[in-house]
Amino acid sequence: MTDKVIPLADHRYAARVPRIPQRLEAPTGLLRDTLGRPLHDLRISVTDRCNFRCSYCMPKEVFDKDYRFLPHSSLLSFEEITRTARLFVAHGVRKIRLTGGEPLLRKNIEGLVEQLAEIRTPGGQPLALTLTTNGSLLARKAAALKAAGLQRVTVSLDSLDDAVFRHMNDVDFPVADVLAGIDAARAAGLGPIKVNMVVKRGTNEQEILPMARYFRENHGGGVVLRFIEYMDVGATNGWRMDEVLPSADVIARIADEFPLVPLEATAPGETAQRWAYADGGGEIGVISSVTQAFCHDCSRARLSTEGKLYLCLFASAGHDLRPLLRGNASDEDIASAIGHIWQGRADRYSELRALRGPDSAEADGNDNNKAPRRVEMSYIGG
Ligand code: SAM
Repeated sequence: MTDKVIPLADHRYAARVPRIPQRLEAPTGLLRDTLGRPLHDLRISVTDRCNFRCSYCMPKEVFDKDYRFLPHSSLLSFEEITRTARLFVAHGVRKIRLTGGEPLLRKNIEGLVEQLAEIRTPGGQPLALTLTTNGSLLARKAAALKAAGLQRVTVSLDSLDDAVFRHMNDVDFPVADVLAGIDAARAAGLGPIKVNMVVKRGTNEQEILPMARYFRENHGGGVVLRFIEYMDVGATNGWRMDEVLPSADVIARIADEFPLVPLEATAPGETAQRWAYADGGGEIGVISSVTQAFCHDCSRARLSTEGKLYLCLFASAGHDLRPLLRGNASDEDIASAIGHIWQGRADRYSELRALRGPDSAEADGNDNNKAPRRVEMSYIGG
């Protein structure tokens, strides 16, 4: 854990207001960035608040009672989010993930899901609409989310051991309530559910096998468990390479007890590498952003709670769409600006980190150096 004190003024991240191109270009759905990557996924953060204080994401020492979260007036309204989402869909987005912060803390989130579920692609198809949650409010909300048009959920869960879980969420939240949320989501038809476990060496690595056993035995193919390498996102979690357990180790540990066979990716740009239990007991995945960067086919854009567009999880600056949304820019203006931004995209942070070596990432997380501060994951969403 870091003991750094982060100045509050630094918490409103840098962004520039995009230029509206003089010659407007209508979306073709075929956008490519400078590395030839299409725009297929949009992650929308609906709140910067969370009821957990996981040390790898929102450490209590920084996100304490004095931390100034965004005022309600700064947040994009549901109408502003839906308008923006439609423009992204015109550009080729086919999948939207709601995230945060904790998205289920946003009041009437079902209302937003309902609006997004009405969007159709230019070919008349509905979008893939999903949400990532810590599961704490899922038992209460699953049925309403499904009724509003949500298709699937991803639930974050780092341990089945109650003491380890309470320690990791750092608000003493019991694991039983998250498991009840997963059950409720399955019962509501929000599956197949993905469960994401961030693995921190020395903290919860002993939970890898119990998690694999539990979800195999209790959910089979109904839940896909995915192991995420602890990432150097943001600048507050005191990330160190020696706390990263490489996905290859995770796979080796599981395969020791349950033989695994590799599976093909279901879609280009998929974050997880997939494996099936050889006995047909379901599937697992690993997300190896640190040891096997997947920037080369990253098709994700991220919209922050207050309308800043980020092109990379590790970005330090965004593009502020809100002044356009709240000014008198037309849909054509904003769509053209978004297209222009994507066409200029060159980010590939994780690949460059791999080339520079992990020490550089540790240094980037150090406030004393001159590297621009990376945006926090709780702000732009996972
Ligand atoms: N509150 C929601 C949740 O818990 O899923 C959504 C937001 S959270 C930022 C999204 C995902 O990011 C979670 O699965 C979380 O575990 C993951 N995450 C946050 N910080 C991370 C880090 N440093 N390395 C890897 N994953 C991280």
